[in-house]
Amino acid sequence: MSKIVGIDLGTTNSLVAYMDGKEPKVIADREGRTLVPSVISVDEQGWIVGARAQRRLMTHPQSTVYSVKRLMGKGLADAQEERKYFPVSLTEKQPGIIQVELGPYRLTPPELSALILKEVKHRAEEFLETTVTQAVITVPAYFNDSQRQATKDAGRIAGLDVLRIVNEPTAACLAYGLQKKKQGVIAVYDLGGGTFDISILKVKEGIFEVLATNGNTHLGGDDLDQRLMELVLQEIRVEFGQDLQRDVEAVQQIRLGMEKAKRQLSTEEVTEVVIPLKQGVVYRRSLKRGELESRVRDLIDLTIGPCRQALEDAHLSLKDVDEVVLVGGATRMPLVHRLVQEFFQKAPHSELNPDEVVALGAAVQADILAGGIQNMLLLDVTPLSLGIETMGGVMSVLIPRNSTIPTNAKELFTTFVDGQRSVDVHVYQGERELVQDNRSLARFQLKDLDPLPAGLPRIEVHFTIDANGILHVSAKDLRSGRDQTIEVKPSYGLSDDEVARMIEESFKFAKSDMEARLLIEARNEAATILRHTERALKQGEPLIALDERDRIRDRITALKKATEGDDHRLIRERIEQLDKITVHLAECLMDSTLQSGLKDKKLSELP
Ligand code: AMP
Repeated sequence: MSKIVGIDLGTTNSLVAYMDGKEPKVIADREGRTLVPSVISVDEQGWIVGARAQRRLMTHPQSTVYSVKRLMGKGLADAQEERKYFPVSLTEKQPGIIQVELGPYRLTPPELSALILKEVKHRAEEFLETTVTQAVITVPAYFNDSQRQATKDAGRIAGLDVLRIVNEPTAACLAYGLQKKKQGVIAVYDLGGGTFDISILKVKEGIFEVLATNGNTHLGGDDLDQRLMELVLQEIRVEFGQDLQRDVEAVQQIRLGMEKAKRQLSTEEVTEVVIPLKQGVVYRRSLKRGELESRVRDLIDLTIGPCRQALEDAHLSLKDVDEVVLVGGATRMPLVHRLVQEFFQKAPHSELNPDEVVALGAAVQADILAGGIQNMLLLDVTPLSLGIETMGGVMSVLIPRNSTIPTNAKELFTTFVDGQRSVDVHVYQGERELVQDNRSLARFQLKDLDPLPAGLPRIEVHFTIDANGILHVSAKDLRSGRDQTIEVKPSYGLSDDEVARMIEESFKFAKSDMEARLLIEARNEAATILRHTERALKQGEPLIALDERDRIRDRITALKKATEGDDHRLIRERIEQLDKITVHLAECLMDSTLQSGLKDKKLSELP
């Protein structure tokens, strides 16, 4: 029987969890590692995902990519901030869809995320000894429609039916609710590698109701690393007169070195940073926790505004909050603990491993959907308001932010001109007054209207935000009662056709990756056998007949020729032929070695 798993598709690491009876558990690999670094690399043998790809960050920075989550559902214009983190080249496939250049491949963020999902899917299948085709995947609460859609697309490309997209802090709260029996008003403060989220939930008798959510999709531990890296680059400039800004490998090395130092300073007061640079130069300095804190404090302070706003949106004050829960790797910093405690005026909880708690919650939600857990209900909200463009580029809100999902809204449309046959509608998401400051989600056209006097057609359009936080649009002609055709063009993101093509290509890639691997293996084996045979032929030439020698030489030439082509089957065939034809030569050589080994030996010396 197949199982529904919960997946935390993280900026830095990804995890997969399942429900083991009544308890959610994270699935580890054979070495006991639960985290799959969200890093993807490519070499001539194909894709590499996880820890092995992470090791290639330093050696092959131009064919290795990390933090792909920061690019999900974005176009280049949205990713100006992100671009500075990526040593690989980013282009645009079409307006609104980024393409990452990795070696000979150009992949969109959903395709790259799909490679990570495939890896965790494979891990789960190996562990559970069954196929896994359904999953609950988590996203930052503050992800907009395009980012959610992109996550769903990634799942589809990876061969997973994404039953639900759940907000990360909500998932964490589910895990705390189930395992630690937390009740009342809970604030979940989630600071990960690339995003910050705050959610305020009311938990009572198994009902998890999200009251409000807020956050920043451009803020996380990576920003701290970036800050420290800039500091080191500046110090190297002053101390050694080297400008390494454009040296991709050096920048990666410094970034990784500083990330490590940052983590160490969560438990230690001081750490020694040693970064070997080129030409034997070594950058060395000690870094105290106090200095780290003063250099990044303004970034952590940026999390307080959203906390305040979420409380306000939930119509609560600080004293109403019963528990504060910490989620995300970056909350291990003592500075974060202190600032959260200062703001909420109570000590935060971090009993559940902040790396695992989101995946555990996703597994809980998977079990609820599978009909396992029956006394828990999750009521989540949409993080951003949904509206349409009205005269003068003003945003008219149809569904305000923090509405419980699924939810819907209706709007009546008509015509301005006599005989008008179509109406254009433009849907936006965001909190600003003018649509130009919000995010365009979709445009659609009500088409084939009957040519009537202006104002007479009455078309009712339904906007639905589903339980995943994703928009759906439908329309009805109220005069005739018939469904109105709507052609929704997502402003960002992939169309269904594109996803279908990517699924197909991922199989094709998998096939060509496999072919490439088989070819390399066959060539390597051919090189080894050619080396051995040539050596053996040199030694054994006097032992065999002339025509046998010529036949072997023929086969050697044939194999060499095959290795120049790219047909691994032909190479294998010729390896076999060479193998067969050299059996006699090998025997002769063995005999002669034995004889020479026995020569001059007395019978008594034999074993
Ligand atoms: P997440 O997205 O939840 O996996 O969080 C990853 C972020 O947490 C990265 O920026 C890490 O550098 C950061 N992180 C992980 N462990 C620690 C730690 N012990 N102290 C400070 N930051 C950490």
